[in-house]
Amino acid sequence: MSEDQPPARRRVYAFAAAVCVAAATGTVFGVVGLTAGGAVRVPWLLIAVGFALTEMFPVHFEHRREAVSFSLSTIPLVVGLYTVDPIGLVAAAVLGRGAALYFHRRSRGFKLAVNASMIWLEAVVAVLVFRSLSMGDTAGAMTWGAAFAAAMACDLVQTSVLATAISLYQRAWERGVLGSLVIGTLACLIDTCAALLAVTLLFDEPAALGFLVVVLAMLVVSYRIYSTLREQHQQLSQLYDFTSQMGDAVLAERVLPALLEQTRELMHAESAWMEDADTVGRIEVDRPELLDDGVMAAPLVGPDGNRMGTLVVGERSGEVRSFTGDDLRLFATLANHASVSLGNSQLLEQLREQAAYSEHQSLHDALTGLPNRVQFGQRLDARLALAEAGPVAVLLLDLDRFKDVNDTLGHPYGDALLREVGDRLRTALREGDMIARLGGDEFAVLLPDVRSADAAVHVARGIIAVLERPFHMPDMADVADVSVGIGASIGVAVAPQHGTEGHVLLQRADVAMYTAKADQTGVELYDLDRDDHTTQRLSLVGELREAIADGSLEVYYQPQVDLRSGRMLGVEALVRWVHPRHGFIAPDDFIPVAEQAGLIGPLTTFVLRRALGECARWRDEGRPLRVSVNLSARSLLQIALPAEVAALLAEADVPASLLCLELTETSMMVDPRRTVDTLHRLRSLGITIAIDDFGTGHSSLAYLKQLPVGEIKIDKSFVLGMRADRFDGAIVCSIIDLARHLLVPVVAEGVEDDDLARRLLDAGCAFGQGYGFGRAMPASELDEWMDARGRTVGSHERVAGTSP
Ligand code: C2E
Ligand code: CA
Ligand code: CA
Repeated sequence: MSEDQPPARRRVYAFAAAVCVAAATGTVFGVVGLTAGGAVRVPWLLIAVGFALTEMFPVHFEHRREAVSFSLSTIPLVVGLYTVDPIGLVAAAVLGRGAALYFHRRSRGFKLAVNASMIWLEAVVAVLVFRSLSMGDTAGAMTWGAAFAAAMACDLVQTSVLATAISLYQRAWERGVLGSLVIGTLACLIDTCAALLAVTLLFDEPAALGFLVVVLAMLVVSYRIYSTLREQHQQLSQLYDFTSQMGDAVLAERVLPALLEQTRELMHAESAWMEDADTVGRIEVDRPELLDDGVMAAPLVGPDGNRMGTLVVGERSGEVRSFTGDDLRLFATLANHASVSLGNSQLLEQLREQAAYSEHQSLHDALTGLPNRVQFGQRLDARLALAEAGPVAVLLLDLDRFKDVNDTLGHPYGDALLREVGDRLRTALREGDMIARLGGDEFAVLLPDVRSADAAVHVARGIIAVLERPFHMPDMADVADVSVGIGASIGVAVAPQHGTEGHVLLQRADVAMYTAKADQTGVELYDLDRDDHTTQRLSLVGELREAIADGSLEVYYQPQVDLRSGRMLGVEALVRWVHPRHGFIAPDDFIPVAEQAGLIGPLTTFVLRRALGECARWRDEGRPLRVSVNLSARSLLQIALPAEVAALLAEADVPASLLCLELTETSMMVDPRRTVDTLHRLRSLGITIAIDDFGTGHSSLAYLKQLPVGEIKIDKSFVLGMRADRFDGAIVCSIIDLARHLLVPVVAEGVEDDDLARRLLDAGCAFGQGYGFGRAMPASELDEWMDARGRTVGSHERVAGTSP
C-alpha cells in the first residue's frame, strides 16, 4: 500500500478489517463444527466456479436512466447451502467471487478489501441464518423459508457494508444505495426461487435441470429483447427532448454547448465535439459514418447547403463499449436536428450582427469610422447634463483646401485625406476627447474636461499645427506619391460661458469658425462682444427663431424693370420682420443676427419657399415673373445648398429659369474654391446667379471670370451718388463697360427717379430697380401695382422712351 494514505482510504481499510474480524468470528465460533447435510453432495469447487461466473457476468438494467447491475450470486449460494458443507461454502464464496473480482474485474486496493471482507461475511451470515432457521433440516419444504431468509440476510449485509464503506469514503450518506436495495431485494427473491427449483430438481430428478437451464436462458434472451425495445423507446423520447431543448437553446444563444451535451447523453458517449473542417483526422465526412477509431462523425449542413462543421462523438460508455449500426442511425437523425438548430442559431446570429451593424452605422461616419453628428450631439448633451460640469469645449473644424485635393487628385485621395485627418486629430488630443465627422470636410471635437477657454484655444492651435504638416498621399493608380498641404479653420465655443445647451454651443462654434475662415486667423473663440447690441440681439434670437418657424416673417417684392421698354424683368424678394413689440425691424439689422445664431439656413429656406410659391401663382395667372432671392455668405458654404434649392423648385413646380440668386462679392470670397463649385452646381440647374452690391466689396476680376455670373447689380450707393458726384457716375459707367465685356446684363439699384433711369440707360444699363418704379411691397400690393401699371403703361414708356 502507498506510504501516505489519504484519511478516507484509511478509514475504509479499517472498516474492511472490522468486517473481516466479524466474519472470522462467525466462521470460528459458528460455521466450523457445523456438519454437512443434505442428500446430494456437490464439490465445493464447482460451487466456487458458479460464484466466479455469477460475479463475472452481472445482469445490467437501467432504472431511471441509471445503469444498475447486480450479480446472480444468490443462486450458487442457495444451491451451496443445500449441497456443500458450510465451511466449504464459505471458502467457495470467498475464493470464487474474490478471484472473479481480482482477475476479471481487476478490483484492487481498498475496494478489493471491502468486497472480499463483505463476501466472507455474507457467506458466514447466510450459513448461520439458514442453519438456525431450518432447525437442523437440510432439505425439504420446511427449509425454503430459511433459504429465503439467508438470501435476504446476504443482501442486507451487502447493502449495509457497501453503504457504510461509501459513506466512510465520502463522509456523506450515499442515497443511491437505497435504490439498489429495492432492486437487490427483488433480484434476490427471484434468484432464490430459481435456486430452490434447481435444488429440488437436483434432489429428485437431476436430469430435469436441463429444462431449468432452457427456461432461464429464454428468460435472459427475453430480457435482452425487452431492454433493447425499452432503450429504443427511450431514445425516441430523448430525441424529442433534444429537439425541444435545442429549440430553447437557439433563443438562449447556447446552441453549441447544449448540442454537445445532449449528444453525449443521447449517444451514451463520454465525449462529443465539433470539427470546423469537413474532415475528422484526414477522413472526409460527407454523411454520418462510423470511423475506424470507434468514433462516429456526421456533417452539419446549414439551411442554404453550406457546411457548418462536423459533429463527432467518441468513447461510448456503458456495457457495450463500441457504437453499433443502431447508434449510427440514431446519430444520423440527431445530426439532422442539430443542423437545423445550428442553422437557425446562425441565422439569428446574423440578424443580431446586422442589427448591431446598423446601430453602429447610425452613429458613425462610414468613411472615417468616426462618430457622426448624431452621436456627437448625444455625447455633448450627456456631458452638459452632468451636474457639476466644469468647462466643456466644442471645436468646429473646417478644412481650407480640401476641395483642391478632391478636385485635382480625385475622390479616392479625398477620402484617404479625410481618414488621415481623423487619425491626426487623434494624435493632437487626449484620451476621452471625442472626434466626430459632421459631413463633408467638417469635423467636430468635444473636450469634455478643459481647464478654460484659453486651454481649448490652445488645443485648437495644436490641431492646426498637426494638420499643417504635409499629407503624403498613398501611391494610388496613376498619381505617384504626392504630398499636399491643407489648412483648417477652427471655431471654439465653451460651456457654460457661451451657452449651456449642445445646439447653442455647436452653433456658436460654427459662427466662430466662420469668422476664422473669413478673417483667415485659423482659430477663433466665439466672441459675444463682437456684437454691437449683444444683449438686444440675443433676446431677438429666440423670437426670430419662432418667427421663422411659425412663418410670421413677411416677404416683400420689389419690381425690376427693363429701362428701355418699361417691361418687367422680375422682382426681388426682400424679407420683412414686424416684431410684436419692437415693430418693424430692418433686414440689415436682423439678417446678421440670423447669421450669428445659425438661423440663416432656415430663413433662406423660408424666403425661397414663399417667393417660389408666389412665382408659381404669377405664372399661373399669366404673368411669368422671375424672382431674385438674396443668399447670405453662410448659405453659400452649405454643401447641400444646390440640392435644397433644386428640391424647393420641384416642390413649387417652378422652372429654374424663373429663379435668380443674389450674392455679394464678399460672400463669394470667403472660401472661393468651394464657392465656385457650389455656384456652378446652381448654375447647372438653370438658375441665374447675380452679383449683388457690385463695386462695394473686394473681388478680383480674374476670379470673377471663373464664376458663372448671369447678372451684375450695381450698388445703389453709386447710382444715388451719380446725381451729385461725377466720380460715382464714372464708376457706374466703368461697371457697365466691364459687364458688357463679360457679356453679363446689368441691373442698377436705387433708381429713385426718371432722370437716373435715363442716365443709366444712356450709359448702357439695361435694367433698373428702385423707388422710382416701386418700393418693395407685399405680393397682393404688387398685383395691384402691376394691374395699375398695365393701364398707365404710357408714363413708364415715357421714362424708357427718352433714351436714344
Ligand atoms: P439688397 O439686396 O441690396 O436689397 C436692396 C435694398 O435696397 C432693399 O433694402 C431695398 O428696399 C432697398 N432699395 C430698393 N430701392 C431703393 C431706392 O430706390 N432707394 C434706396 N435708398 N433704397 C432702395 P432692404 O429691403 O432693407 O434690404 C436690405 C438688405 O437686407 C438687402 O440689401 C439684403 O442684403 C438683405 N436682405 C433682404 N432680404 C433678404 C433675404 O431674404 N435674405 C438675405 N440673406 N438677405 C436679405
Ligand atoms: Ca439683393
Ligand atoms: Ca443690393
